[in-house]
Amino acid sequence: MHADERPSIATLVRRGLFALPLLVALFASAAASAEADNAGAVVLHAARLLDVDTGKILSPGEVLVRGERIVAVGVQVDHPVAARIIDLGDRTLLPGLIDAHVHLFLHPGAEDSQTFNESVPERTIRATLAARDDLMAGFTAERDMGTEGAGSADTAVRDAINHGWISGPRLRICGNAIDILGGHEDAIGFNPDQHALSNATYANSSADLVAVIRSQVKQGADFAKIYETGKDRIAGDDFSSPYQFSEDELRAAVQEAARSGRRIAVHATAEPGTGMAARAGVASIDHAYQLNAGTMAVMREHGIFAVPTFTVLEYFAAHAATPEAAARYRAIQAYHIGQFKLQLAAHVPIAVGSDVGPFPHGTQAREFALLVQNGMTPLAAIQAGTLHGATLLGWDKDIGRLAENYYADIVAVPGNPLHDISALQRIDFVMKNGMVYRQ
Ligand SMILES: [Zn+2]
Repeated sequence: MHADERPSIATLVRRGLFALPLLVALFASAAASAEADNAGAVVLHAARLLDVDTGKILSPGEVLVRGERIVAVGVQVDHPVAARIIDLGDRTLLPGLIDAHVHLFLHPGAEDSQTFNESVPERTIRATLAARDDLMAGFTAERDMGTEGAGSADTAVRDAINHGWISGPRLRICGNAIDILGGHEDAIGFNPDQHALSNATYANSSADLVAVIRSQVKQGADFAKIYETGKDRIAGDDFSSPYQFSEDELRAAVQEAARSGRRIAVHATAEPGTGMAARAGVASIDHAYQLNAGTMAVMREHGIFAVPTFTVLEYFAAHAATPEAAARYRAIQAYHIGQFKLQLAAHVPIAVGSDVGPFPHGTQAREFALLVQNGMTPLAAIQAGTLHGATLLGWDKDIGRLAENYYADIVAVPGNPLHDISALQRIDFVMKNGMVYRQ
């Protein structure tokens, strides 16, 4: 026998070198380890499964999950003996939803006054509840677009979720947004002697932008959010919003963020700010009420996402303090819808973002219905809230589709969401990272 050739167990038994009890114990331990491997395995079974890449419905649909990852997807997958089988009946399985524009640190009715009336610890506690509500509604990943005055408190929320201390979506966070002195979201209109604080962090030059971004990175930010336009004005069909940072300043911010593999998102509603942001190379233009033809071409060419936010305007219009304010919100929404149809025709990449926070957390799947109402197909809307969201968050190799080796972020809806997109508002099964949070 060659030195590194090892005799098989059968050979050893033949040679009488192995006692039978030992052999039994060996087999038993092999079986036990296979069982341990499958002990955490889960098979999800439902009437349908949506392949978001192709729009194909598998019927029935099954997913085998082991640990935090998907092992197999198909009409029928392996059912390991020790696996837990979850039969979801007349439902459709699809990837967990991704909201690329949320505010965990905002709640309805107090949007602007929160910075003044509520402490950061109080707001952080509420943010953890908001994160739970969003997850339970099927949003397994989110990009939090600014704490609006709570600084880097979102770092703690993201990390607590990652540690498993609290329930919530996977998060990309940015701390405070960045604005100019006297610009959008600065605390304008208060008694100057009271020195009311902006809910964002000031930067008034390229050098300031670099310094603020570095400081936010130190505090845990995954990306930076910049207010590029505001305040919005509408008169008839004439919509405008002044820009805040110059194109060169935005370019400096994009370059500084890129140095450490990060990206910039802008709140930008109108030209020329939207175009300046696109040419500077931001990752997304949020709200994006107005994009001219040149801007849309740049966005298409460079894969810059428009993140329309229809639900928040619908909510503001329905809950406005005065009829005049409601009319103004409705006029902006009508303008936004008209422009959105042009953006769809121009094939601008779209990611779902609801701007939830000013309206109740956990209700933002309404955004999908509005995207469809305003011209998207149900499949395109679902792709915008899964595949595109994953790309925008920089997680396209890990989430956004049901595929082998992706994280097991999976939801189920009653019926078929391609026939009735509002089904996404009735998600009643949520798995994130292989763990069932709602059933
Ligand atoms: Zn927002």
